[in-house]
Amino acid sequence: DIGRAGDEMGLDLFVVGGFVRDLMLYRKSDDIDIVVEGDGIAFAKHLAVMKQGRCNTHREFCTAVVILPCGFKIDVASSRLEYYKAPAALPTVEMSSIKLDLFRRDFTINTLAIRLNQEGFGTLIDFFGGQRDIKDKSIRIIHNLSFVEDPTRVFRAIKFANRFNFTIGKLTSNLIKNAIRIDFFKNLSGLRVFSELKQILEEENPISAIELLNEYHLDKVIHPGLILDSSVISLMESVKKALAWHDLLYLDIQYARWAVYFMVMIRRCPVKVIDEICNKFRLPPRQKNMVLRDRIRADDRLYLLEKSLPCKNSGLYHILSIFKTEQILYMIATAKKEEARKAISFYYTQLKDVTPLIRGKDLLTMGIKPGPAYRDIMQKVLDARLDGLVDTLEDELEYVN
Ligand code: ATP
Repeated sequence: DIGRAGDEMGLDLFVVGGFVRDLMLYRKSDDIDIVVEGDGIAFAKHLAVMKQGRCNTHREFCTAVVILPCGFKIDVASSRLEYYKAPAALPTVEMSSIKLDLFRRDFTINTLAIRLNQEGFGTLIDFFGGQRDIKDKSIRIIHNLSFVEDPTRVFRAIKFANRFNFTIGKLTSNLIKNAIRIDFFKNLSGLRVFSELKQILEEENPISAIELLNEYHLDKVIHPGLILDSSVISLMESVKKALAWHDLLYLDIQYARWAVYFMVMIRRCPVKVIDEICNKFRLPPRQKNMVLRDRIRADDRLYLLEKSLPCKNSGLYHILSIFKTEQILYMIATAKKEEARKAISFYYTQLKDVTPLIRGKDLLTMGIKPGPAYRDIMQKVLDARLDGLVDTLEDELEYVN
């Protein structure tokens, strides 16, 4: 159907990039990228009308997103020769616009395209050896100036190597080392580094990516005071276990996975260094508080908890109730004692959502007016409930009396 929309407008169309790569790897893709040789925005609008979807356009970049009624997203980009300013010293003059579009991508595995027009439908286009590199399980740049052009690709290389269990090609690996040695990252905004790092930490299993960051000394690119050594990596394994435990039980609870790994990554850095990293990454105040202030609190409370165990449920609740899922998982991952790990899991699964049955109106009936006393009573009833002293509403009323 998409191809037909292109035929109707006399435009050549290709599905490109991650979608084709994932198809070759028998992996599911969440969205689809289309490149149109010509006016992509006009095409996207036509497609949206045809499929009764919505179309959001970004004129500045000549791109658009078509959202189908079922929610599926189609990203549309234009590949017109006049849109490109080829980097100096690269032999791009002779290329067709789709070839140029693919040439500007990061790695050969992302340069595959499939033609969508009726004529030649399904033809695989492989200018840069993408198929061979998928077969060889290899991450390779397309030209030697790739990392000069965009150093964030170093992080992307690691992300893909980790995700697909591929190796980084020899030349590409040497160029990464070169990029780090010459410090191509000097002028790179912290925001872009953070965006790539966050994507790595959001991967299903980021551990081997962290190992690669360590091997290439990319920790020093993030901040000279950051240390990613084997002890950090082994704690990250514990984070992985904690997240797996959580996700098995609570599929529907959303939390920032990256933040749990990130807190472990920076936990041994002095506050000054963490503060600098957060500022460099331009973390919004809420996220900065989460990884700095609340994380330090989590360390303190974990220490307190390990000293107080065994303790009553109400005690456990008071130590942990200020924390969100991210800190709880951080504490489970970093706890030294198994007993503490168990206690925190018990709090999260059994105690976190406990509330008294008694309501304000019950207290009013008993002649207790809203105010500080009211809060104290509620707290005492909650403690009694946590410690198993009350069961029914009647028990609670009797307890208050
Ligand atoms: P993911 O599954 O992580 O979304 P993806 O390959 O779709 O993988 P995106 O980050 O969505 O990755 O990028 C879409 C396409 O844009 C990629 O296939 C890649 O070819 C290209 N791309 C993205 N970032 C860069 C970059 N920094 N340099 C060159 N090409 C890039």
